[in-house]
Amino acid sequence: MKHNLNEKQKTIQMLARRFAEERIKPIRGELDERDSFPSFIMKELGDLDFFRIFIPEEYNGFGLGVLDLCLVMEEISRVCGGVGTSFAVNALGSYPIVKNGSSEQKKKYLPDIASGKKLCAFGLTEAEAGSDVGNIQTRAVQTETGFRISGSKLFITNGEVADIYVIIATIDPKKGIRGQTAFILEKGMPGFTFGKKENKMGIRASHTCELIFDGVEVTKDHLLGGVGRGFFLAMENFDHSRPGVGAQALGIAQGAYDEAIRYAKNRIQFGEPIVSQQGIKFMLADMATQIEAARCLIYQTARTIDSGAKKFSKESSMAKMFASDMAMKVTTDAVQILGGYGYMKDYPVEKMMRDAKITQIYEGTNQIQRVVIAQELIREI
Ligand SMILES: Cc1cc2nc3c(=O)[nH]c(=O)nc-3n(C[C@H](O)[C@H](O)[C@H](O)COP(=O)(O)OP(=O)(O)OC[C@H]3O[C@@H](n4cnc5c(N)ncnc54)[C@H](O)[C@@H]3O)c2cc1C
Repeated sequence: MKHNLNEKQKTIQMLARRFAEERIKPIRGELDERDSFPSFIMKELGDLDFFRIFIPEEYNGFGLGVLDLCLVMEEISRVCGGVGTSFAVNALGSYPIVKNGSSEQKKKYLPDIASGKKLCAFGLTEAEAGSDVGNIQTRAVQTETGFRISGSKLFITNGEVADIYVIIATIDPKKGIRGQTAFILEKGMPGFTFGKKENKMGIRASHTCELIFDGVEVTKDHLLGGVGRGFFLAMENFDHSRPGVGAQALGIAQGAYDEAIRYAKNRIQFGEPIVSQQGIKFMLADMATQIEAARCLIYQTARTIDSGAKKFSKESSMAKMFASDMAMKVTTDAVQILGGYGYMKDYPVEKMMRDAKITQIYEGTNQIQRVVIAQELIREI
């Protein structure tokens, strides 16, 4: 299906595909096995200017849009969901600065993010505040010079490998979401340390750990977007990033489908390739149709955002939810088409199935996406 990509987008897609095939594919199994974050791959992505995509031109970026970023996420994830996550979360951590940062904050942080010199992370989740983000307990107490931050954040992607962190704390838990406030922290600040590194089912080429804040003193210029704006900043961030999670899921599913059809054409059982069996043909037809449906939803949502639309929470949630549910189904079917071989680590589809699962969970579980979609639908009546 043609998706009317412009020449620049086709070039971005081609470069990302080539990089993923040549540089990531040969090592993805090893990264997964060793549970290892590939700093050198992130550096190469920076050298190839992929981090510049969504950074405004005045801060050494390309000033491009969500669709351009989704194309890169899709191509990287087609080969490795873990590297796709590490790349995507850099955008999740830096977009709040692009959108809400003061000109001093943008000048200070964005050029280094654009060049890939510094990586970002986004810290919202806590042990008692996952889906229930209103329950955040990390506390920011006002001081004479700024704020003192104490608490911790759980399951943070790019945790210890990032340099710049956007985190949400509360200035007063009694105020609920209206007390939540965003701050920019930097690695090495006194009192800012890292806890347990998670041992994950999938996306093992990404780094996930706990962030610990033990009375971290920050000056007022680390406040992002104003006191009491943190919750709204986080939700706005997710509205922009959820099509990207959809694109990760889409890429993973496409990679699994590519493996499955190739295998089905070559695997001989009952004297002919298994692809001759109607049972296999129908599975492949369903997989390809679902992948294409997800692609249409993601690209259209990204285009809506890039057109300057003001409201797109529903579409973003639909794109993330549909694509991730699709990816779980398609990768599971890919394992089925490869039979016993699909279950073995000699083939990449079992990793793809493990990698797909997280896209139904992070940046709001798919139950929470359904809550968001239903709320918007009811509001529209
Ligand atoms: C690998 C990984 C990376 C992550 N990276 C980040 C990151 O970089 N930054 C960050 O801030 N967070 C990150 N997260 C956290 C992630 O966003 C949360 O795990 C997720 O939002 C779910 O929260 P929870 O795990 O506490 O589950 P819970 O909220 O405890 O949910 C448990 C179950 O209950 C369901 N449920 C909860 N509430 C409702 C409801 N109202 N209606 C219906 N069902 C409901 C959920 O859908 C889920 O099935 C990451 C998580 C993982 C696993």
